Amino acid sequence: MRYVSTRGQAPELNFEEAMLTGLARDGGLYVPAEIPVLGHDTIAAMAGQRYEDIAYTVMRPFIGDTFGDDEFRALIARAYEGFGHAARAPLKQLNENHFLLELFHGPTLAFKDFAMQLIGQMFQAALSRRGERVTIVGATSGDTGSAAIEAFRGLDAVDVFILFPHGRVSEVQRRQMTTPSESNVHAIALDGDFDDCQARVKDMFNDFEFRDGVGLAGVNSINWARVLAQVVYYFSSAVSLGAPAREVSFTVPTGNFGDVFAGYIARSMGLPIKRLVVATNQNDILHRCLTGEGYFKGDTIPSISPSMDIQVSSNFERALFFAYDRDGGAVAQLMTELSSDGGFSVSQGAFEALREVYDSGRVSEGETSAAIDQWRKATGELLCPHSAVGVHIGEDKREASVPMITLATAHPAKFPAAVEDASGVHPPLPPRMADLYDRPERLTRVANDLGAIEDFIKGQIAT
Ligand SMILES: *Cc1c(COP(=O)(O)O)cnc(C)c1O
Repeated sequence: MRYVSTRGQAPELNFEEAMLTGLARDGGLYVPAEIPVLGHDTIAAMAGQRYEDIAYTVMRPFIGDTFGDDEFRALIARAYEGFGHAARAPLKQLNENHFLLELFHGPTLAFKDFAMQLIGQMFQAALSRRGERVTIVGATSGDTGSAAIEAFRGLDAVDVFILFPHGRVSEVQRRQMTTPSESNVHAIALDGDFDDCQARVKDMFNDFEFRDGVGLAGVNSINWARVLAQVVYYFSSAVSLGAPAREVSFTVPTGNFGDVFAGYIARSMGLPIKRLVVATNQNDILHRCLTGEGYFKGDTIPSISPSMDIQVSSNFERALFFAYDRDGGAVAQLMTELSSDGGFSVSQGAFEALREVYDSGRVSEGETSAAIDQWRKATGELLCPHSAVGVHIGEDKREASVPMITLATAHPAKFPAAVEDASGVHPPLPPRMADLYDRPERLTRVANDLGAIEDFIKGQIAT
């Protein structure tokens, strides 16, 4: 399996290289040159299988000879053994045909664990075989960083530096990043918002001297291996509702477009997904784009669903690449316009291609809070604010004849203040992490300045 850049100017790579590289050297994102299709019988046979077995079948065609079959099965097994639910991604019924896919039973209580735990295992296996060491740098609006630190803490081939927007992540998210004591993981509080964090990470990747000097690797959702790991639960949930004989739709609380793009890959692999509904909060650049207003940046407004407070959605570039018929030159042109003019219009043909797959919706802060309260009263299910954005929109978009599956992206206890304000109920942490508030914190605060961040990283690696 070969991987190509969405901007068409970087070398083609195999799976291992694409995973260890993250961002392509032309600034683009790696995508598979061809998307493998699974036959009807292969998909039908997944019904009733263990999550790990479905994961193997779905991901195997993408990894080429990076891992042997038994080795890959063992990596998958280790990735998910620490989850707090035997089903890994259990599906709950909310009403006659609206379902909630609970993706928050991993060690940091958000769906990011599905990809990050597996990536940790795959990096360790690939790097120890190569006898190499890398420096992982990532930006986070809260959940990626905690998942990455949890997945990589204590691994000897990896140093991890996570940039998060100072004061804009929840206390649980911050503590999950700042309390691990292993010396190879570092939480960095940046004076800026998430888009600043993400931009500085991109700057580091584009600073080739620094990039090569420290052996930079990325595990943000731009990393193809992360998208791949997220394809699995689209299959596991859809087959439990009757796919491939029956169509389903998904609603996905969306920020960087990684999770919903994994749904696009599942659909392209032959899973009968009717619609992928992109759910946004008031930071609605994707909703505006998918309703025909073009892709133009606004200001990021902090919300009660902070992991979706994003105005530049990195993985949307992958969706554009396919909507523009894999024309890397066209995508590169759009990205140039985005950085010079703050946005771009989507061509009519590409817009129609996007609308064939994706639908979208936006909710206000008030609607999000009301949804948390309303769904708790109706079903007993306490939703985190991100999941509430999704459920509200999923209910609105649901069709009588097609089951709607909304992705519950985080556990309510990760956002206790917003959940308690909305519902009057304090969501307790699962017992296995009840001492989070007692552990000492360790973090470094830095200015929104590339040189300062790079110096800090170089200094930490040297010691
Ligand atoms: C990361 C995250 C999202 C957004 O996912 P993307 O893949 O960036 O679109 C939504 N909800 C929660 C809780 C998250 O952590």
